[in-house]
Amino acid sequence: MFTYLRTTRPGQFLVIGILFTILGFVAGGIYSRLAFYAAIFFLGFFAAKQAMVETVTSKSPNVDLLMILAALGAVVINYESEGAMLLLIFAGAEFLENFATDKSTNAIKELMAHVPSVAQVLQANGEVVEVPTEELKIGDIAVVSKGAQIPIDGLIDRKTQINEAALTGESLPVEKTEGDEVFAGTLNEGNAFHLTVNKTSDQTVFSNIIRMVEEAQSRPSKISKFIDRFEKQYVIGVLIAVPLFIFALYFFSNFAFEDAFYRGMVLLTVASPCALVASATPATLSAISNGAKNGVLVKGGAAMEALATMEILYSDKTGTLTFGDFQVMEYQIPESVLPEVVFMEQQSTHPIARAIVQQFSDLKLDGIDQTEPVEEIPGSGLKKGAIKVGKPSAFDGFHDEHQYRSKTTEDHTTVLVAEGQNIVGYIALSDQIRPEAIEAVDGFQEEGIQVELLTGDNQAVAEKVAGEVGVDAFAAACLPEDKINFILRSQEDGQVVGMVGDGINDAPALATADIGVAMGSGSSVAMESADVVIVKNDLMKLLYSYRLSHRLNTIIKQNVVFAVGVIVVLIVLNLLGYLDLPAGVVFHEGSTILVILNGLRLLRMEDKSAAAQPAGEKPVQI
Ligand code: ADP
Ligand code: MG
Repeated sequence: MFTYLRTTRPGQFLVIGILFTILGFVAGGIYSRLAFYAAIFFLGFFAAKQAMVETVTSKSPNVDLLMILAALGAVVINYESEGAMLLLIFAGAEFLENFATDKSTNAIKELMAHVPSVAQVLQANGEVVEVPTEELKIGDIAVVSKGAQIPIDGLIDRKTQINEAALTGESLPVEKTEGDEVFAGTLNEGNAFHLTVNKTSDQTVFSNIIRMVEEAQSRPSKISKFIDRFEKQYVIGVLIAVPLFIFALYFFSNFAFEDAFYRGMVLLTVASPCALVASATPATLSAISNGAKNGVLVKGGAAMEALATMEILYSDKTGTLTFGDFQVMEYQIPESVLPEVVFMEQQSTHPIARAIVQQFSDLKLDGIDQTEPVEEIPGSGLKKGAIKVGKPSAFDGFHDEHQYRSKTTEDHTTVLVAEGQNIVGYIALSDQIRPEAIEAVDGFQEEGIQVELLTGDNQAVAEKVAGEVGVDAFAAACLPEDKINFILRSQEDGQVVGMVGDGINDAPALATADIGVAMGSGSSVAMESADVVIVKNDLMKLLYSYRLSHRLNTIIKQNVVFAVGVIVVLIVLNLLGYLDLPAGVVFHEGSTILVILNGLRLLRMEDKSAAAQPAGEKPVQI
């Protein structure tokens, strides 16, 4: 906060203005007056600039204009100390608002500062050299020593413990094993390891977060857009009302002109909607910043505000309620077809594809026609020439002489393989339910939100997962468009719909929902289409953000009611002649400061569930 005062021009002017104001109060006679003039100049400089720019270029008069006029008016009637105080508190409030804005990027930028700018790279000849992280290429191998900050996203080659607090806010170290992904900015608390770079420095989870947070700030919430529009009308109203008021007092109430003008200045001061204008933005930015620190990225004020209004939450299964970390349990595929299937799955990023590729990684694929295109049908499977792999419902009407379709049980996700119109094989895979998903679904239901499962997987697995997780309803064998239809139907019923998912197949549904939520481990298309990203896939963090959003809406409501209440009371007191200018300045500007401080409280709200999370609960296998 102090660096800001020292290093920015508005900060420096604020400090100089405060000093002149103090001087004004201690000095006597003409010096006092001169000091206040100087204070008014320094304190009002930026507000005046802002007022001119907004009024002239964008034709929308704002509160800054009212404040400058009120201060000048005070000077005219020899109330320069009040004029200086008014601008002092106004500039102070502005400063607090900037502080909230900076805080929401800085919270993350500060963490970013910890991401090392160089990495220790292992050369082919076994030598280790220092390379700037921007120059790292995918496939490079970096050495990360014990206690070091990880320079870039990549896959590790042995067991270690990683502290991911920088991303998730969760300070307990996470156990990682060979082949797991680790992220730039997190801390290696285990032994040294080698890391195979899998993202360039501008594509890391961390740099994406920074970019999305910056974009988020430029997207105002509905309430702040409304307040912005309202501000213009209201300011024009005040600009008309004040002269009329002075005029009326002078001509109809037999006031001396100075007295009428004085009352007019009090009205101008107390009727300015400073506190109202500051009701939403600092609070919203504080909430976004709090979310980011807790591993949830909310892209913009509108999304932060809307989250609390959610009435129904649809959830994808694979990768969302489950880890999406499949193991092949059983399979039967003719030897001639298997390499084709593995080759096809190599082209897909689906969790099932990853599991199949890993299971058959020793298989030789050289006899395959690699020029023939592989087509992926999102949410269904793959096709290459006559060969087709995918979910059982995509094989309706196919010959099934070995009865492979009957291998579909509730315990496994089964994919079938066909050649032409004949089903020639199957692969049964199993996944695990995320333990925190059960808890989160329960939490949402307690908040009165209906949770429903929409999955592309078969009926039996869907039913099992639905039962284990405890969702209210489920639908199996959904195509991407089916997911959209469920959302649209709920929206037609007037419900505010949330959708959480991870896959390419979920992206259209995420974009359709009022609040789209993507898992951080999901595809980048899903993350781009979503309004909210759960960076580390913990659904409890979504529940936390929901509660944060509730708090935000409560605080905004408190602020608006308080701001309007103070304005009304002060106007009435002024009409009755019970309010002088110094009191008007103090109450009016004091209410602005209080409103901003009330918003900043959201920076400090804590995630209580993080500490209370059950450790080492056994995941349910499906
Ligand atoms: P979910 O909606 O549960 O996340 P998806 O919609 O991603 O599941 O996939 C639905 C089904 O489509 C999977 O259960 C699987 O049977 C099939 N499928 C999707 N992609 C592939 C693939 N690359 N290989 C084989 N089967 C696939
Ligand atoms: Mg999925």
